[in-house]
Amino acid sequence: MLKLGHALQGAIHATTQESLKRPDAHDVIVVGAGAAGGLAALLLAEAGLRVLVLDAGWPHEGSPLINAIVRKLADPKNLRFVPPRFAILPKAAIRGVGLLRQPVQSRLPAWGREPEAFVDDRKCPYVTPPNRPFIWIRARQIGGRMVVSTHGGQYYRLSPSDLAPGDGSRPSWPLEPGELDPWYSLVEHRLRLSGAREGIAWQPDSELGRVLTPNTNESSLMNSIRSSWPASRPMLGRFAPPLDGLEGAARTGRLRCRQGAIVKRIEVHPSGHVSGVSLFDLETRSEVRVSAPMVFLCASALESTRLLLLSETTNSPDGLGGGSGALGRHLMDHMIVAGWGSAPPLPASHHHEENRLIYLPRFDARADPKPGPGPGVGVQLYQWPGTPTNSGFCAVTFGEMLPRSENRVMLHPKRRDAWGIPVLFIDCAYDDADLALARLQIETIRELAGATGVTLTSINTRPTMPGICAHECGTARMGRDPRDSVLDPHNQCWEAKGLYVTDGASFVTQGSQNPTLTILALTARACHHAVGRTPEGSRLLT
Ligand SMILES: Cc1cc2nc3c(=O)[nH]c(=O)nc-3n(C[C@H](O)[C@H](O)[C@H](O)COP(=O)(O)OP(=O)(O)OC[C@H]3O[C@@H](n4cnc5c(N)ncnc54)[C@H](O)[C@@H]3O)c2cc1C
Repeated sequence: MLKLGHALQGAIHATTQESLKRPDAHDVIVVGAGAAGGLAALLLAEAGLRVLVLDAGWPHEGSPLINAIVRKLADPKNLRFVPPRFAILPKAAIRGVGLLRQPVQSRLPAWGREPEAFVDDRKCPYVTPPNRPFIWIRARQIGGRMVVSTHGGQYYRLSPSDLAPGDGSRPSWPLEPGELDPWYSLVEHRLRLSGAREGIAWQPDSELGRVLTPNTNESSLMNSIRSSWPASRPMLGRFAPPLDGLEGAARTGRLRCRQGAIVKRIEVHPSGHVSGVSLFDLETRSEVRVSAPMVFLCASALESTRLLLLSETTNSPDGLGGGSGALGRHLMDHMIVAGWGSAPPLPASHHHEENRLIYLPRFDARADPKPGPGPGVGVQLYQWPGTPTNSGFCAVTFGEMLPRSENRVMLHPKRRDAWGIPVLFIDCAYDDADLALARLQIETIRELAGATGVTLTSINTRPTMPGICAHECGTARMGRDPRDSVLDPHNQCWEAKGLYVTDGASFVTQGSQNPTLTILALTARACHHAVGRTPEGSRLLT
């Protein structure tokens, strides 16, 4: 969980319910304080706008005692003291608590380390068809999912061929070649990424705050891979701690921030211009309407789409962007297949650094001179100190899901959440092509283990359920034509001027890379576009 800085605490304190209602008090409302919302608030406040951030997270919920017990039971250090024949007991206790309060969130292996970071599934339900499960991982808190303690901190650009395949295999993004590059650079500069320059055509380089060189162990692992597949390009992973955008935004003096503000509707003037939002305020248990001429919707892919669906108007009876027929469709999430094992011991001089790993971009094409048309597979290799005779090893493969219209979300006609807001019906499943890719992922892990001297102790024999990767994206895609897209090429809703949706909902395809760097680059670009339309003008590219 993020420790709130002084400036942000001041901004939260100053944001009373009365201040929310004051007309003309805010130039822009940002819905959601996760990765996308935090960056939007920072850039918009730096550009001179008065920013109001509304976040659903409410720090006073849940049982601290139960959370503390789960954390203790889930900590591998404590489990060392449990005799092997009783080892099942703590696991069963954790599973029991999980099933009672967070049956969905507790599916995530990381849940037990920090249960309070994730939503209470009883209050935040959703519905799936029988036999088509979708695991929707949600964190309602300042910082969103980027600040959960087991976040991977991995940041990779999409490649030109991810954004514009040009071969009919996948749709292209509505971007000119290279158009996202300055925005990736801006964000990477803010993140202060660690990594190395690699010069790989299908995995663009990034701006680095800290340039790394491979240590002895990394070099030997990468050499084993190169000698088995000379065309492959193993590289050092690119990682960074979470970006604390809201603290920076608060330091400008132009931020207001309300926690426990559950936005339930985007308000649009009959002229077609956004006019504000309606929310349920957890502190006062009342409904509030807040006005502003611009709204950034950054509530995470599926929450943002849920809000678009909830905001129907006379002109948009199926929700904002519903006229395209694309709203709610083309849901994607990376298919994860992972394998664990034991590797030769690490040298005594080895210094273990959190989130440092070896990345194998487009490893599906390891035997080819360059990757062909997608879908691709990226692999992350982790190694950590074990005993004097071995080290721990894990290979996580991310398989790209292609956007398919039938993988979709809708509002459920009857079910409501704890605040009376209609919940999502999520209908998403892998098709035969996805499952063929998953088989390739399993094979990939076995081959990698063979090439690197790893003894596999366990391996997924099928992909994890859709959603559990927490890389969900699509459902309100960008495009050049309002007849088949929800957002224009600048992430602005075709059916509501001044409404920008910049989280993963806007993705056209997902590539095989982790999504957050692209979410951040799109957010920065949309901020620039939005500010360019205000009297303050554009001061963002600095
Ligand atoms: C364990 C884990 C590890 C991960 N590792 C990586 C990684 O290494 N690299 C990577 O790129 N990605 C990773 N991800 C995914 C990454 O966390 C997400 O892509 C990213 O956080 C999405 O940011 P976001 O701002 O769109 O949404 P979120 O981070 O989910 O933030 C959404 C915010 O919106 C708020 N909100 C929701 N609904 C409402 C509402 N109705 N009203 C007001 N506010 C609302 C929430 O409180 C929250 O603060 C990981 C995810 C998990 C769970």
